Amino acid sequence: MRLLQRHLCMIAMSLVAVSSAHAATLVEPTLHIKPAASGAGRVALTLDACDGRTDTRILSALVENKIPATIFVTGIWLKRNAAAVEIMRAHPDLFELENHGDRHIPAVDTPQKIYGIKSAGSPDAVLAEVESGAAALARTGEPTPKWFRGATAEYSPSAIAMIRKLGFKIAGFSINGDGGSLLGAKETAKRIAAAKDGDVIISHINQPTHAAGQGVVQGLLALKAKGMIFVRLDDADGTGNHGTTD
Ligand SMILES: [Zn+2]
Repeated sequence: MRLLQRHLCMIAMSLVAVSSAHAATLVEPTLHIKPAASGAGRVALTLDACDGRTDTRILSALVENKIPATIFVTGIWLKRNAAAVEIMRAHPDLFELENHGDRHIPAVDTPQKIYGIKSAGSPDAVLAEVESGAAALARTGEPTPKWFRGATAEYSPSAIAMIRKLGFKIAGFSINGDGGSLLGAKETAKRIAAAKDGDVIISHINQPTHAAGQGVVQGLLALKAKGMIFVRLDDADGTGNHGTTD
């Protein structure tokens, strides 16, 4: 009996070894835009709308202060936030909507978990997430998206190659503004206000109850007060690593 237990235990251990051998090493690509080279500089603000609701503190501040932003939306967020989508579509000079996938599933083609979220797990599932996300955006009447950012912003290198083949550039970032919307207001404001010429900021616009949202607004207003110019990804020359833009 004991021998059998030991045997089963060894089978279990070898199964763990096999599955971890199959888990891809993930990359978290960076993205920078071409610096302005004069004046206070320019930055690109990117905001993810993963699921949940809309942080109207941020949306109102962007409209009131005429701060352009690239919003990465999922199919599930689009369905639940029609009013916010209307506001964005009413200000095409400010908002560029891009593809954050259909169901907020990480673009990783091997089965594994990233920050507790299950990956797409296969090449077909990655394709479905990217293509259905683009289709959901097209149904709102928005122009065809050119950029993709996967849930968790981590990718397997083979998924990056597939997404590039579909014609999308992949949007990394250079400043993690709100730490997945989990940072406090003060730390978030500090990180965003520290952005330099050519930086791409990532934060979230789907967590209205989190303190981070208040910090996003404060940080952006501090940048604007310094004379920083905000540009959207379509209006900037973005260069990423890991083959995400070239
Ligand atoms: Zn997200």
